Amino acid sequence: MSEAPLAPPLVDLVDVGKTYRAGETEVPVLSGVDLRIEAGEYVAIMGRSGSGKSTLMNILGLLDQPTTGHYRFEGQEVGGLDDAARSHLRGRVIGFVFQRFHLLPGLDVARNVELPMRYGHVPQAQRRARATELLERVGLGHRLGHRPTQLSGGEQQRVAIARSLANHPRVVLADEPTGNLDTAAHGKVMGLFAELRRDLGLTLVLVTHDPSVGRAAERCIEVSDGRIQRRHHD
Ligand code: ADP
Ligand code: MG
Repeated sequence: MSEAPLAPPLVDLVDVGKTYRAGETEVPVLSGVDLRIEAGEYVAIMGRSGSGKSTLMNILGLLDQPTTGHYRFEGQEVGGLDDAARSHLRGRVIGFVFQRFHLLPGLDVARNVELPMRYGHVPQAQRRARATELLERVGLGHRLGHRPTQLSGGEQQRVAIARSLANHPRVVLADEPTGNLDTAAHGKVMGLFAELRRDLGLTLVLVTHDPSVGRAAERCIEVSDGRIQRRHHD
């Protein structure tokens, strides 16, 4: 009897490079990056400012394309996908959380969380039910009708986390999600991520400056000089 083939890694970067072009100048940011992330992993990405962490996250999240190398998502070569397939992955399979929350100020909290489901053509009643459930889960069930500006930074980030989960993503990418928060809000947001991982079996990739977050993750990688330099406990 032959064994069942192993599932491909969720994320597989092979020899990835990224060079930005600014006018005449080329800005090499990443080179020779190999990174594999399995479903269910919690990976922290560290590195000093300007080292290329956001560039790496944008590539992982299909917001940007590598200049060289290969990116396979669940075994599928991302470079070969057309725009529709890429936006499907971006909108339905990957959730994003940003440092500055990126909530729409003109929409209340519930509608912000519903937004990714609108793009996915989920009917209104179902959208509202899912948004309510997610906002309750992040402790904001009593804030559905508030505008983002009426919330604290920590609360806004919890809304953004709820929004990132709207379409049941297989992976959430969070780029310095607590970078704009005070210590108390930072603790609450990190606790929430840990809880969501445990309860939903989420794959989480998180950029952080905080070594304690790096230690809380199962695996911590460091981006430096355009490469992944250091790996702890793997
Ligand atoms: P980090 O998130 O680790 O602070 P970034 O990935 O944002 O680093 O940036 C890495 C380097 O790439 C920096 O030197 C930055 O100035 C440069 N960079 C980022 N985006 C662009 C861009 N769109 N065009 C040109 N250079 C860029
Ligand atoms: Mg950054």
